[in-house]
Amino acid sequence: MVDYSFSNDEELFRESVRSFLQSNVAPIWAEIDERGRAGRELITSMGEQGFFAIPVSEEYGGQGGNFVFAAIAAEEVGYADPSMGLAVYTLLNNAWPFILSLYGSEDVKSEVLPRVGRGEAFFGIASTEPRGGSDVGGLMTIARRVEGGYEVEGEKIFISGVREVFEELDYGGWLLLARTGRVEDRHRGISAFAFIAKQDGAISDGVEYSILETIGRHGISTGMLKLNNAYIPDKALIGEVNRGFYIAMEGFNLARILVAAANIGTARWALERMIEWSRERRLFDDKPISSFQGVSFPIAEVAMEIEAARLLVYKAAWMADRIYFKREPGLKPRDLSFYSASAKLKAVETSVRAYETLMKTYGALSYVKETNVYRGMLGSLSYLVGAEGAQNIMKLIIAREVIGREYV
Ligand SMILES: Cc1cc2nc3c(=O)[nH]c(=O)nc-3n(C[C@H](O)[C@H](O)[C@H](O)COP(=O)(O)OP(=O)(O)OC[C@H]3O[C@@H](n4cnc5c(N)ncnc54)[C@H](O)[C@@H]3O)c2cc1C
Repeated sequence: MVDYSFSNDEELFRESVRSFLQSNVAPIWAEIDERGRAGRELITSMGEQGFFAIPVSEEYGGQGGNFVFAAIAAEEVGYADPSMGLAVYTLLNNAWPFILSLYGSEDVKSEVLPRVGRGEAFFGIASTEPRGGSDVGGLMTIARRVEGGYEVEGEKIFISGVREVFEELDYGGWLLLARTGRVEDRHRGISAFAFIAKQDGAISDGVEYSILETIGRHGISTGMLKLNNAYIPDKALIGEVNRGFYIAMEGFNLARILVAAANIGTARWALERMIEWSRERRLFDDKPISSFQGVSFPIAEVAMEIEAARLLVYKAAWMADRIYFKREPGLKPRDLSFYSASAKLKAVETSVRAYETLMKTYGALSYVKETNVYRGMLGSLSYLVGAEGAQNIMKLIIAREVIGREYV
């Protein structure tokens, strides 16, 4: 039976996160984007409100929820902060801690996850390197075996959360991908580590960082990590040696659902603004510009695209829950790939289009900083240019799933 409604619990959860966000984030989102910091206080209060580690079990300090709940939270954060800074913080702090809860060692899980759940720690993803992000199988950061662990050498770039970990919080890090096998083994020679770069206020040895000056979504920073024989203990290995690529792909599948949900949120913000303005602005014999089909039809199309993207997002979240929580026989993590890549591809195209339509509806007003339209547009564009996987890579994943890996 097909049922498109949310359960009572899901509706109540949406109401509660929305009410928190409308009081604590919506009035200051542009200020956060302007100053480039969400601030420790807000992050901690989001943790207390249950925004992080939503799909992680309560045993590890998570919220004991699932991906539909996490998608609801990400969508509402994207709506309250259309510049997406806080949405990025939220979605990373749900998807990657969940992966840690699946494959991490008991020691590391019980150390990291409760801190993430309380809003005291950030746990993101460090995959991309200067040589290019799309070819994860070709990454060059090396993890050398030493007594009791690994020493890591290499560079990571465009990493979200660098300032938050090193300058805002006392604890945090990333799921770090590094080569433990031969270069010619490509993706079969990569391992995943819970790389905790800062613990109890102290930055780990062998780690340098810098912040990149990005054009948008300033509520979370984007930076570089330089690892010069940074030590990672054995217990921080996530899953088996040389299986890190597959673990990361599972994580990207899950993170992309939440990326897509956040893009729906920011697109909804844009849609509301264009509806309001099209009713208010009066031209040509004092008619609202919404009476011109050149204005109303693009708005209608955005509304339709948002609904289509939203269906894909929640279908992907529902699919993730069937795989990871209901554990339906016959379903594998890989079965999520088509749905999550489709949701990300569509939701990002939709939010970018929503902002283009908003800009045309506002006219010159959208070009004035005060309207903050550009902040939302730049947030969406971060996902069009690559964050959480380039749009072409989404098409590649979909093509592999529908045509067959051996043909693509
Ligand atoms: C704001 C922001 C935050 C980010 N945060 C993180 C983070 O927290 N952690 C992290 O690890 N990374 C992060 N990234 C990096 C992101 O994962 C990469 O941008 C993405 O993987 C693409 O890599 P690239 O930008 O190096 O582009 P490239 O891989 O160099 O690709 C360039 C272009 O070529 C196209 N292309 C590449 N290969 C193919 C192909 N086989 N077929 C067709 N087209 C192809 C791509 O679509 C793209 O348009 C972030 C990026 C941004 C913009």
